[in-house]
Amino acid sequence: MTEAERAVRDGAAAWAASELPLERVLRMDAASRLEPSLVSSLFSAGLMGIEIPERYGGSEASFMASCLAIEEISKRDASVAVMMDVQNTLVNNVFKKWGSPSVCDFALPLLAQSAVGCFCLSEPGSGSDAFALRTRAEKRPDGTYVIDGGKMWITNAHEAKLFLIFANVDPSKGHRGITCFLAERDAPGLTVGKAEDKLGIRASGTMQLSFDGLRVHESRVVGKVGEGYKIAIGILNEGRVGIAAQMLGIAQGAFDAAVPYTLQRKQFGQPVGEFQGMQHQYAQAAADIEAARALTYAAARLKMEADAAPGADPRHFIRAAAMAKLLASQVAERTTSKAIEWMGGMGFVRESGVEKFFRDSKIGVRVYLGGRGGAAGVTRRRRGVGAPGGAGGGAPAGGRATPPPLFFSHRAVPSPPHANPPPPGRRQYTKAPRTSS
Ligand SMILES: Cc1cc2nc3c(=O)[nH]c(=O)nc-3n(C[C@H](O)[C@H](O)[C@H](O)COP(=O)(O)OP(=O)(O)OC[C@H]3O[C@@H](n4cnc5c(N)ncnc54)[C@H](O)[C@@H]3O)c2cc1C
Repeated sequence: MTEAERAVRDGAAAWAASELPLERVLRMDAASRLEPSLVSSLFSAGLMGIEIPERYGGSEASFMASCLAIEEISKRDASVAVMMDVQNTLVNNVFKKWGSPSVCDFALPLLAQSAVGCFCLSEPGSGSDAFALRTRAEKRPDGTYVIDGGKMWITNAHEAKLFLIFANVDPSKGHRGITCFLAERDAPGLTVGKAEDKLGIRASGTMQLSFDGLRVHESRVVGKVGEGYKIAIGILNEGRVGIAAQMLGIAQGAFDAAVPYTLQRKQFGQPVGEFQGMQHQYAQAAADIEAARALTYAAARLKMEADAAPGADPRHFIRAAAMAKLLASQVAERTTSKAIEWMGGMGFVRESGVEKFFRDSKIGVRVYLGGRGGAAGVTRRRRGVGAPGGAGGGAPAGGRATPPPLFFSHRAVPSPPHANPPPPGRRQYTKAPRTSS
């Protein structure tokens, strides 16, 4: 770990210790909302632009530094960590890697200083199979794209000022029509809908969006037209490391909260944490957490190596990222569940804060970033996603004729219209694309 990375980690830990006392964490969890002053404080502490170059007002630290900060904040509150995780590892890095100079000049200073960003890919009918998205963008003669459709599950959309929206400019080209657009919150035609009422990371706003004639000028296309799928694949591979860091922090946070309690709590005349049967469990959990940490940090380093050598085979990094997400999520779920048991009845009540870690851990396993994303990356073969020349891992698309499954899709053909019934009580975005200007 470099000195700069250690400084970011320690700064994030100190920030979390002062800004995230348990009482506040529980209050935000109960209210299902992050307190606005907390969001400003994340910016003032430099935690929303960790990798953004200094010339744009960021800290110009490494990807490893972002992961360390995410881990530290997740030890206290994963809802806060997910906000800065999405900002740093998804949104900011999309601009850094694919943004034109003019888009970067506009967006990066805002993202470093005051604007929350969100990453809008998933839709009611396209989750793991993200390339089945149905949001359309149609180009008008004046160079404006008109976007119609909707998104679901969008983290940060409650607070966001900048929206990265994936839409298809030409569905006849399949995934090669997918394009990434930058829109601002107050743009006419962009509506932020209701927040989901969730099991865990409750204070993190997860919103529905709808686009009704949203106009975005061609100068606000991020990357190339028709290459949004490369952005999605590339950035979600990196995003898995951020999720692993979140899960790692959750596991460590639960462990750190529960074990000291058991060393105070006396039964049968001695602290329950001193019984050998308990200590075997602590040893197992501590070893699990260290293993997840080693894999997560290794994945972060491999991603930095892959960035430093453009054109190199990214498969080592993609595989490590998927493994880190998979293992860290499992360790988080297991450790937080155990932590509740170790504390007995106290672990089961809200005021201990430990049951919240357990609820928050569930987002990691098979949900975030493509349900099967973790396992898919671990098991993919040469000819699958991530193979040289394929679309995976941001490698050049080469000449692949078939749509690359983003998350190991089980479908070989695009979904027929209306293939996915809306969940009960849910509106499906089925608006027909506009045909006239
Ligand atoms: C709290 C939260 C925040 C989110 N934030 C964002 C965000 O900011 N931006 C964004 O774009 N999206 C976001 N998402 C969406 C998230 O990425 C999706 O939920 C995820 O891609 C899974 O899609 P799905 O929910 O539609 O599940 P589905 O794709 O319907 O999957 C359902 C089940 O089927 C399994 N499955 C799917 N395909 C396969 C397969 N090929 N083989 C075996 N099993 C399979 C999955 O593992 C899962 O268990 C968020 C979701 C949540 C819950």
